[in-house]
Amino acid sequence: MTMDSNSNGRRHIVVVGGGFAGLNFVKHIDTRFYDITLVDSHNYHSFPPLFYQVASAGLDPASICFPLRRELRKLKTPCVRFHMGHVDCIDVSARTVRTDHDTLAYDILVIAAGSTNNFFNMPELEKSVYTIKSTPEALRCRNDILGLLERAAVEKDAAVRRRMLRFVVVGGGPAGVEIAGAIGEMKRYILPREYPSIPQEEMSITLIEGSPKLLGAMGEKSSRDAYDGLRSLMVDVRLGMGMKSYADNRVTLADGSVMDASMVIWTAGVTARPLEFINGGEVARGHGNRLVTDGYCRLTGQGDIYAIGDIAIMPEADTAFPNGHPQLAQVAIQQGRLVARNLNSQARGGQVSTFRYKDKGSMATIGRNRAVVDMKKLHMSGFSAWLVWMFVHLISLLGMRNKLTVLINWIWAYFNYSTSLRLLIRPGRWPRRDLWQE
Ligand SMILES: Cc1cc2nc3c(=O)[nH]c(=O)nc-3n(C[C@H](O)[C@H](O)[C@H](O)COP(=O)(O)OP(=O)(O)OC[C@H]3O[C@@H](n4cnc5c(N)ncnc54)[C@H](O)[C@@H]3O)c2cc1C
Repeated sequence: MTMDSNSNGRRHIVVVGGGFAGLNFVKHIDTRFYDITLVDSHNYHSFPPLFYQVASAGLDPASICFPLRRELRKLKTPCVRFHMGHVDCIDVSARTVRTDHDTLAYDILVIAAGSTNNFFNMPELEKSVYTIKSTPEALRCRNDILGLLERAAVEKDAAVRRRMLRFVVVGGGPAGVEIAGAIGEMKRYILPREYPSIPQEEMSITLIEGSPKLLGAMGEKSSRDAYDGLRSLMVDVRLGMGMKSYADNRVTLADGSVMDASMVIWTAGVTARPLEFINGGEVARGHGNRLVTDGYCRLTGQGDIYAIGDIAIMPEADTAFPNGHPQLAQVAIQQGRLVARNLNSQARGGQVSTFRYKDKGSMATIGRNRAVVDMKKLHMSGFSAWLVWMFVHLISLLGMRNKLTVLINWIWAYFNYSTSLRLLIRPGRWPRRDLWQE
């Protein structure tokens, strides 16, 4: 076990997850009062709103990821350490978290491990559908889209080509709309230019959404504009239609109809990242298996354990959101900052405050130069909304190099579809090695 708590008279905070919530917590905690260990299964922070661009070869992964060690170095304090490891178990009475390499003692624990894919009552989908909830998942999706296009380009049988190029996106939220739009643009603009041996009509993209509208959390106008935008990109949108199963490259829909699908991209559900708690009594779980907290983001009944961001739900304290806050970056950022400020204030003997979410609006893009934006009562769509979307995403990205690279990529792609990112580079199989084991 490393890092004795209180060994230097300062309290030790372990933060699980360096996403929006965890990283904002670490940036705002006062390291004069606390020692911090940030634990993440990856050694980088990533920017999920742009995963769909990695998955569709619009951006390279390095543009939307940032090394966590470099970000922590900017804090210019040795009191913040990074531990790359996957946390699977929290021993509440011993006050330790177990990672795959060590056991870390904590005085205060901040859980910010986010959410993962939810396949509802179809667990077998985990092995057959593509998902875009992490950078490796987005990369896998990109490689296989490019692989299918290359394979179809040398296939002589038109019927086989058609089956190869049937893409089905499940879920009509922002991630589903954005990835369907990006693949639609590939069909509309890239296929004729770069794959002349594939007739355009042989590629098809279908988006399936169980509810009667796209972008359910946004206004009526945004839903309609997203629908029209996807149709203009040759995406077949089926509303009010759930997916029942997927096997042998065939999707069965709720009404019993069946369609070919060489690739199903699943964006239809999220659930809290699973974590095991031992020796600490019951830990309350809410909708989507999220950890139930009070208004200070503290786990119900656990004084020194906080949960923030997607993994947490606050069903009672914020009356404006009786079903919990939406799982959005702004909620995670604001909760990370609030908990840091409260702990700083506590250390100085000051007051603490409860969480109130400041809704800054929501947005989604449809293709390369169109978006929908809802901000309070303001609705925007089309090119002007896309400029707002672009600005908001650029300022939110970590690192000046990343901001510049992404901006240049977008400007380049706007005028000219040629990017060098459609390179199909798959990792080699050999030599097979695990990390150091003794
Ligand atoms: C495709 C997609 C598009 C999105 N688009 C938008 C958008 O346009 N606007 C918006 O506001 N929100 C969007 N979201 C939602 C937004 O990304 C999340 O609400 C936000 O990332 C939540 O922040 P978080 O810190 O709680 O979790 P994350 O940002 O998911 O961070 C969790 C971190 O914990 C680490 N981790 C997980 N489990 C463990 C473990 N067991 N041990 C150690 N480390 C662990 C992960 O590696 C990760 O770094 C999108 C999400 C996705 C997937």
